[in-house]
Amino acid sequence: MQTSVIGFPRVGTLRELKFASEKYFKKEITAEELLQTGKELRKTHWNTQKNAGIDYISCNDFSYYDMMLDTAVLFNIIPERYKELNLPELDTYFAMARGYQGDSGDVKALAMKKWFNTNYHYIVPEVEDDTDIKLTGDKLCKEYAEAKSLGIETKPVVIGAYTLLKLCRYTGTKTFRDYAAAVIAAYQDLLRKCEENRIAWIQFDEPALVQDMDGEDIALFHQIYDAVLSVKNESSILLQTYFGDVRDIYPELIQMPFAGIGLDFTEGKETYNLIEKYGFPQDKLLFAGLVNGKNIWKNHYEKTLQVLSALQVKGIRTVLSTSCSLLHVPYTLKHENRLGIEYLSYFAFAEEKLTELEELRKLAEHGNYHSEKTYRDNEKLFAAERNCFNEDVHKRLSLITESDYVRLPKRSERQQLQKKALGLPKFPTTTIGSFPQTKDVKANRSAFRRGEITQDEYVAFNRKKIAECVRWQEETGLDVLVHGEYERNDMVEYFGESLGGFLFTEKAWVQSYGTRCVKPPIIWGDVYREKPITVEWSVYAQSQTKKPMKGMLTGPVTILNWSFPREDISIKESISQIALAIRDEVLDLEKNGIRIIQIDEAALREKLPLRKSDWRKEYLDFAIPAFRLTHSGVKPETQIHTHMCYSEFTDIIPAIDDMDADVITFEASRSDLQILDSLREHHFETEVGPGVYDIHSPRVPSVEEIVAALHTMLTKIDRDKLWVNPDCGLKTRGTAETEASLKNLVEAARLVRASQTD
Ligand code: GLN
Ligand code: ZN
Repeated sequence: MQTSVIGFPRVGTLRELKFASEKYFKKEITAEELLQTGKELRKTHWNTQKNAGIDYISCNDFSYYDMMLDTAVLFNIIPERYKELNLPELDTYFAMARGYQGDSGDVKALAMKKWFNTNYHYIVPEVEDDTDIKLTGDKLCKEYAEAKSLGIETKPVVIGAYTLLKLCRYTGTKTFRDYAAAVIAAYQDLLRKCEENRIAWIQFDEPALVQDMDGEDIALFHQIYDAVLSVKNESSILLQTYFGDVRDIYPELIQMPFAGIGLDFTEGKETYNLIEKYGFPQDKLLFAGLVNGKNIWKNHYEKTLQVLSALQVKGIRTVLSTSCSLLHVPYTLKHENRLGIEYLSYFAFAEEKLTELEELRKLAEHGNYHSEKTYRDNEKLFAAERNCFNEDVHKRLSLITESDYVRLPKRSERQQLQKKALGLPKFPTTTIGSFPQTKDVKANRSAFRRGEITQDEYVAFNRKKIAECVRWQEETGLDVLVHGEYERNDMVEYFGESLGGFLFTEKAWVQSYGTRCVKPPIIWGDVYREKPITVEWSVYAQSQTKKPMKGMLTGPVTILNWSFPREDISIKESISQIALAIRDEVLDLEKNGIRIIQIDEAALREKLPLRKSDWRKEYLDFAIPAFRLTHSGVKPETQIHTHMCYSEFTDIIPAIDDMDADVITFEASRSDLQILDSLREHHFETEVGPGVYDIHSPRVPSVEEIVAALHTMLTKIDRDKLWVNPDCGLKTRGTAETEASLKNLVEAARLVRASQTD
């Protein structure tokens, strides 16, 4: 039996790529130096996989920013405005990813969206009416040759034509149908190139196949691949899917002349049943995604081996694979020194997953594996009792009743009461919470962590920052202030640290987008609040101003979605536990004089099941009530905000209204305010602050631009419901650009207020 890895993380075990890229952006190193870092990382990653004994190792899974963007560039999908900057290739690429503001011009970045049901964000390629889609890039073949020169045979991976067509944004009058022919020709050329380079296997990633597909989608898929596969070619094609099962197209898929098909057995609930029902052709390889690429728990060998043996009995030629790219898990347990073996022995990160693949391969080949040491160790681990139970949590959960999910009085009444109580102007201005995490802020936190400064010193420094931040917001004229979030490096980790049941890693970074990495906590056991978390900071911040200070919490859905979840209890149960813990914090903030509380649910949309038919039962029916449980206990005058970023939520607007928050702020500027129509259509009741500028880019928006955005918003949103704010938190931004942007924002709000007659 052979083994395959769909993709490997690329930022480096110690985030080398992130740091090199950031230096390059600041012009501290040259392009050559950045490229050299990339080259070294690729070499390390290939060798790690080779030494682990992996048979099918990917290349072109490396990226300087994002693989969708790479694919766009490979096929010349570069909007005119970026070409017109006339920058070197690498800088054009980064201009698309991050925006550009400099001597050559001023353009915004392309939109970013969540990659299916993960916390990874991809760049949305933009196709204009005159975009000439064709193969122009050579990254794929170059990386193949680079690996080859190191003595490593790889399979290049690229986003498949169907997924690419589906995920692009079409800005002109044409749609994806108009581009099918060009895309087909481009992929045909790519295949020819692969053949010229004597590439044995090429992997087309088609995760879009795990979403609902109708007849038209299936026809499009056929149209594409009938044509692509008709190119006479020596390279074998692996059609790789992940993040679910391909139930809508499976019977067709297995009829098509792919040399290999990759299916997900961990998230693909129906995968095995589909094989039972329709079989799997003997002339193809089945790449069986049995080692979970998305979670960090060890593989349960017995379960996996049973599936492998069942496939073997059916005579299916199986390659053991990860369920998706390992991009979504951290690199290695090697750097984790703080957690004891009683914990670490339960986990497998990317490198350890390579070991699992190899061990499983050997066991599967062994036939009578039950006495093998690797098997017995694994069996023992799963048989042992894990210390994760908390009696009180279960008691509390059992006492929740329906009324705990309902806030009274109803929102329209609350809105009147709050208007009076808070005395805010029309179009109130606010920010999403964090202010720039400057070097000194990070240094203070890490000095405290390392025990180099005392608790008092740590607090004193943060208080000074808070006081400065509050003063600056007052002077600038913002209406609802924030404390700046200097105490947290991450909106989930910070809360997890004060909640029982969470575990923390030291270096377990996972790429979120571009150079941004996160370190998701691990939910190990039952969750409860150990002590107040934010109260002290918020109360101090409020003491510095008469204006309302917004308390700032992370909601249960986001905490769960940005952590590695347990696999021994349901998501629903985990979310309820976290909701109760956050509820405690909400009530404490209120009790301590905080009149506005924001409960961020940045990740609400992201774990929405990929198939619409699963949305309610498998997610919204418990995620939305869990949010209500966090705030149903507050007084009518206390204003509850929530915030969401990225990703489309036009399709779940009623569910969002159902969270029963008083105000929601969300990402909008990168998606051209498309969401406004849906708000109107659904008679959205929650007050709204669609972000007026993009914070994922250092670009400073002009006053005129913000005024224009607000006027557009006012055509769709009632004027007593519109808030004025950026897209998201400001922590990744520099101070100068942030201050300039917010000044413009406040000025724009002032101008729009002045232009309104009562
Ligand atoms: N309050 C958080 C912040 O401002 C929200 C971050 C987010 O939505 N990702 O940083
Ligand atoms: Zn956000």
